[in-house]
Amino acid sequence: MIPVVALVGRPNVGKSTLFNRLTRTRDALVADFPGLTRDRKYGKAELEEHEFIVIDTGGIDGTEEGVETKMAEQSLMAIEEADVVLFLVDGRAGLTVSDEAIAKHLRSREKPTFLVVNKIDGIDADSACADFWKLGVDAMYQIAAAQNRGVTALMERALAPFAEKMQEDEAEEGLVDLTSVEDIENANLTEEDAEAAYKRLQEQPIKLAIIGRPNVGKSTLTNRILGEERVVVYDMPGTTRDSIYIPMERDDQEYVLIDTAGVRRRKNMNQAVEKFSVIQTLKAVEDANVVLLVIDARENISDQDLSLLGFVLNAGRSLVLAVNKWDGLDNEVKERVKSELDRRLGFVDFARIHFISALHGTGVGHLYESVQEAYQSATKRISTSLLTRIMQMAQDDHQPPLVRGRRVKLKYAHAGGYNPPIIVIHGNQVNELPGSYKRYLMNYYRRSLEMMGTPIRIQFQSSD
Ligand code: GDP
Ligand code: GDP
Repeated sequence: MIPVVALVGRPNVGKSTLFNRLTRTRDALVADFPGLTRDRKYGKAELEEHEFIVIDTGGIDGTEEGVETKMAEQSLMAIEEADVVLFLVDGRAGLTVSDEAIAKHLRSREKPTFLVVNKIDGIDADSACADFWKLGVDAMYQIAAAQNRGVTALMERALAPFAEKMQEDEAEEGLVDLTSVEDIENANLTEEDAEAAYKRLQEQPIKLAIIGRPNVGKSTLTNRILGEERVVVYDMPGTTRDSIYIPMERDDQEYVLIDTAGVRRRKNMNQAVEKFSVIQTLKAVEDANVVLLVIDARENISDQDLSLLGFVLNAGRSLVLAVNKWDGLDNEVKERVKSELDRRLGFVDFARIHFISALHGTGVGHLYESVQEAYQSATKRISTSLLTRIMQMAQDDHQPPLVRGRRVKLKYAHAGGYNPPIIVIHGNQVNELPGSYKRYLMNYYRRSLEMMGTPIRIQFQSSD
């Protein structure tokens, strides 16, 4: 599972600066949920070989009242959900009462916590840090987030246990149990063994995450799916703070439903759980093969919907869209909803859209077909010869343009990964291809390979 890192500290110590530093590394996406989570921000970060989710908790200063208390609660919730806490203090300002209050709170949680003294640029770091030992920490890390000093070393330390855990897991799984396309690709198998491993992979349970913002009907849909007679649900202990994984079977296909709505959990424990958790949702997306994004037909498409969608696209997951609460709407409203979907979600043209009523069960059965289709598309093995042939057909139908007087020439193509499928195209000057031609190739591949439900990524490799 992808680790979650929370940035905690009083306002102005440099949390946002560090957040931006960490998430900027690649096409990081920030899911900002105003109103729901105050100014908490979530982003996916990659550093060296580590991938993690980072939360900027806004600010707590340990002495909140009123609205501030609410905000602090949100930060505290983020701390609960995090795997590692980075507790930031300001090396220039020195130790403050707020720092001590936060430290006290953190000591009461048993979370791996790193004390991070920020802004050590241009000051005598060691003497600036001396005071902070009073917080009673084992170790302290000095950084200058604004200068990117010390950040990589800090993160290496903070994430080391997770990297080790991943390596152990991989070693344990061995070759007999290759559970992802990446595993198979990296295992250096013979063509025959790889073929068999892919076949097994296609027969694996499909990990399906049902996500959506609050009140779109996730719980209703999850209950509907689990309540159906044709579904066999296996018993599963559910005690973690993460989403509950529910194995089930339908029409001879095994699934593992990732319950972000907390349906199962709420049944098991009678205390209130936070009904919607961005972190749980993001983790579920990372871990899923296929994401079912639920949208409310009775509300406008919101920034929150788009944030969630962005996260799915960023993660390269297969996607099925369910527009829920389609019951009892008159035709005029239905038309309006459809044109809004076209206008705002037209860019995700690879995903099937279903109009459903989780409440009455209408249309729910058809979701499985699209989920299966999306999974098959995302994990389908495509040979070099087929990818090259399609590339040639595309090129014959519509020649690439001239670049600096020379015709761009596509030579051959092969697969570079799956889930999402990556197609690598080699040729002369291919990096100079205009966006319009790249999109043309993408669509050509999508149509030829009949790949619905999954994004396709094309990479270009220039041979001159
Ligand atoms: P937050 O409220 O904790 O999110 O803090 P910000 O990230 O907004 O930073 C507060 C101020 O500290 C800004 O003016 C930053 O430019 C500054 N700052 C952040 N990191 C550093 C640093 O490493 N060195 C210095 N000198 N200033 C920094
Ligand atoms: P969640 O927060 O996404 O888990 O949403 P819930 O499943 O709790 O549903 C929120 C509200 O929408 C509840 O009052 C449901 O009864 C209602 N709801 C859910 N699905 C439907 C539907 O298909 N049609 C209608 N009319 N209401 C629905």
